[in-house]
Amino acid sequence: DDPGNVKVVVRCRAFVRREREKGTQCLIRMDPATEKTTLLAPSDLDSNSSLRRAYEDKEFTFDKSYWSHDMEDPHYAHQEDVYRSFGEEFLDHNFAGYHTCIFAYGQTGSGKSYTMMGTPEQPGLIPRTCEELFDRIRDEPTPNTSYHVQVSYFEVYNEHVRDLLVPRTNHSIYLKIRESQKDGVYVQGLTEAEVKSYADVERLMKIGDMSRTTASTKMNDSSSRSHAVFTIRLKQITHSLLSDETIERTARMRLVDLAGSERAKSTEATGQRLKEGGQINKSLTTLGRVIAALADPSRHNAKGGRRPRTVVPYRDSVLTWLLRDSLGGNSKTAMVACIAPADYEETLSTLRYADQAKRIRTRATVNQDCMS
Ligand code: ADP
Ligand code: MG
Repeated sequence: DDPGNVKVVVRCRAFVRREREKGTQCLIRMDPATEKTTLLAPSDLDSNSSLRRAYEDKEFTFDKSYWSHDMEDPHYAHQEDVYRSFGEEFLDHNFAGYHTCIFAYGQTGSGKSYTMMGTPEQPGLIPRTCEELFDRIRDEPTPNTSYHVQVSYFEVYNEHVRDLLVPRTNHSIYLKIRESQKDGVYVQGLTEAEVKSYADVERLMKIGDMSRTTASTKMNDSSSRSHAVFTIRLKQITHSLLSDETIERTARMRLVDLAGSERAKSTEATGQRLKEGGQINKSLTTLGRVIAALADPSRHNAKGGRRPRTVVPYRDSVLTWLLRDSLGGNSKTAMVACIAPADYEETLSTLRYADQAKRIRTRATVNQDCMS
């Protein structure tokens, strides 16, 4: 077993045009020497002074602080920097046989999809990880080893699971979640596409993202309401000529683009929108409760003795049930907290959430079978 804390990094995006045009004040400072992130109280508060006392400077420290706000700054974190100093390590773990998970948290428009998927010109963690995975298999193969890579891509929307790798039809087909001794919790009937090269993965990412975008234009911006889970499964089969043993390692990497965190406290209008809001609310609020339960210090306190262990409410939502292992079990896990530069309240809530996630400990095991 390899116990360790969830790694938590934070990334601040640049102003978008609308913010620049309004002359918005940047409320974030990052100190590259100490990895400190400071959220400043807005100074240009208007007459709404009753709110003023709620605002003060807040300081947080994370494993890494990525300053992607100002391109001119020598400390500007490019997509490549985020991959090299953060994402790459998780690919190493995968090759070593560990399950891993990286999830992006933050309000809509804070840079979650940019960080995870990116754009064709500025690819994010998912394409970079996949490309390097195949580079490694080609350039540094382990002797007598064969590699098998599978990819799946699904979204959780309104507490339903939808396969993003099958063409969208008029009536969506929702997949069921199952649990078995052998496979743990899994999505029944989900496409697990065999991929032989990065080009294969690229094609699938395109299909999946199209599927996501199509949905988001049809039903008012579902990408801010849905959780997208991209999974890479790497199987390495090594045959030792010396001992005539076959060792099989299967490790899974999950890359999760969560719904906008403002949805956790959605106060939407009526009807379907309320229902959707409420349901999204369910997976995100449950995620919040799961993180709170896992971060509870009494969990790790053996002296507590008779005190019952905190119950972790994994089963209360589809997302947390599916991510159970990644959150509190056999996985090396990380969170990227994405923040906008000028939204005090949402940013404070994201930073507090991230701060809590730092306290979660997981126990990763090498997933290896030996057959002689
Ligand atoms: P989210 O997925 O959290 O809703 P997006 O990733 O779609 O947010 O980002 C919102 C906008 O900001 C997009 O136009 C995106 O291209 C841009 N953006 C986000 N992060 C960065 C960054 N680090 N550098 C440059 N542009 C960014
Ligand atoms: Mg997004």
